[in-house]
Amino acid sequence: MRDKAIITSALPYANGEIHLGHVASTYLPADITTRFLKQKGVEAYYICASDDFGTPILIQAEKEKKSPQEYVEYWNKRDYEDFTAFDIDFDFFYKTSSKENIEFVQDVFTKLNDAGHIYEKDIIQFYCNNDKKFLPDRYVIGVCPYCKAEDQYSDLCEKCGRVPEEIENPKCALCHKPPVKEKTKHYFFKLKNFSDELYKWLDENQNLQKDVKKYVQNWIKGGLIDWDITRDISWGVPIPIESANGKVFYGWFDNHLAYISSAVKFLNDKGLNGKKFWNSADIYHFIGKDIVYHHYLFLPAMRIGIEKEYKLPDYIPTRGHLTLQSKKISKSRNWYIGLKEFLGYYPADYLRFYLVSITPYSQDDLNFDWNEFATKINSELIGNLGNLVNRTLGFAKKTFNGKIPAPEGFDNHDKEAEGKIKKLSSEVGNLMEQNHLDRAVKKILEFTAYFNQYFQHKEPWKNGNSTKTTVYISTNAVASLAIILYSFLPASAEKIWSQLGMNNKISDQSWDSASSLLIKKDHNIGNVTPLFSKVEESDIQNYKKKFQN
Ligand SMILES: [Zn+2]
Ligand SMILES: [Zn+2]
Repeated sequence: MRDKAIITSALPYANGEIHLGHVASTYLPADITTRFLKQKGVEAYYICASDDFGTPILIQAEKEKKSPQEYVEYWNKRDYEDFTAFDIDFDFFYKTSSKENIEFVQDVFTKLNDAGHIYEKDIIQFYCNNDKKFLPDRYVIGVCPYCKAEDQYSDLCEKCGRVPEEIENPKCALCHKPPVKEKTKHYFFKLKNFSDELYKWLDENQNLQKDVKKYVQNWIKGGLIDWDITRDISWGVPIPIESANGKVFYGWFDNHLAYISSAVKFLNDKGLNGKKFWNSADIYHFIGKDIVYHHYLFLPAMRIGIEKEYKLPDYIPTRGHLTLQSKKISKSRNWYIGLKEFLGYYPADYLRFYLVSITPYSQDDLNFDWNEFATKINSELIGNLGNLVNRTLGFAKKTFNGKIPAPEGFDNHDKEAEGKIKKLSSEVGNLMEQNHLDRAVKKILEFTAYFNQYFQHKEPWKNGNSTKTTVYISTNAVASLAIILYSFLPASAEKIWSQLGMNNKISDQSWDSASSLLIKKDHNIGNVTPLFSKVEESDIQNYKKKFQN
């Protein structure tokens, strides 16, 4: 682990609201990891931006009689608000249409061009005579030439994850008429040139997930194809060549460069040297598995192509898709739950707890299920974790008027319990460093279950010898829990911290400090109230009905 880190997550496309599917695989794991790194003393920054360019946005803006600038400005602001309500704490949230990104993208292109990695070629482009426009990307649907899946977009097969060279049996996605073909000049990035270097980089980087590496290396063995980086539309980063007037870059050429341009702007504005920081930091790009091709091939190839002026990623944590009640999320079929709407029903921490618990560090898909959500919140978050906090602090309040007593000797059980506190930060921390956030939560719940049993077994209400020791140790367990919980459930951790009567900030507590007994004798705890309220079965039934279609 380096002492600096830059964390990014896949950029939200500025064309609609954030839903649960977005946050599960990408933003939540990135936010938790950033908070953890900061607690570990790493100078870490979480950078994101809205992805502002491309045909879908242009067309939607026209429909709403807005300029594309106005249109993306609205979604940039709205996305940021929704993320913030979910306690996704970006250090900087910018946009791919920023002047810094446009300049950077054009500069990268010029360097790639000068180095001989770009060539021009006349291509035949689909054109719809009915709609009178070129039909790039999502505006042509057809059959994937690799896996023969039907109704796939021409720029990405959602079934097999590959980018088709040419889609079979094409149709205009707007009017469903077969398009005609017209000639136009496009710029290509020589991805093929980088096959060996990409293969080697994948081999050498031990932090990347083995299964993802394996199938990307199989793609390389199967032969990469050069990459058309041009679009005949008006909304994008202009290609900085005079004869390319009216042409812009394909969104996947410019969007991931905003990881760099946004980070550098943020760092420079802070008075740091952005480029130097980037090159001495651990670089994390959090993504969902649908964009593996772009992040394991295009992105590193472009950085290699500019002589690694900005270092390649150290980690690309890649996770599966969220399904909703076991069905694929689809905005067009209205089968999704908006983040903002969900946060109107339940606190952010309920959703954070549930999603992180069910999201493994793998390509496996995960499923949002209303009943499972209710069970996990009621029995694990409230019945186990919340119960420990409330019974411990409640008992200390009632029995000792909130003043933590000095312990009176440790028996074997007390010593074992003390040992659990001392090991908590390293046991959970090891899992965090390996990106196993779901297992880290499990470990935390083992800890709280242990202390519930400890309290139960000790029977401090019988007021024997061990009452004071039990309260002293249990209160310390709650303090350590709050620190470890902060990355996962920041609002709840803060509440626990304030109920403990701590007057410093939970966010300033170091991760490793959780391994000591922080609460000393005679410490006065604060007001004690239940942390959570139960998820009601009748509400769950209503939401299930509401989201049926
Ligand atoms: Zn396919
Ligand atoms: Zn058409």
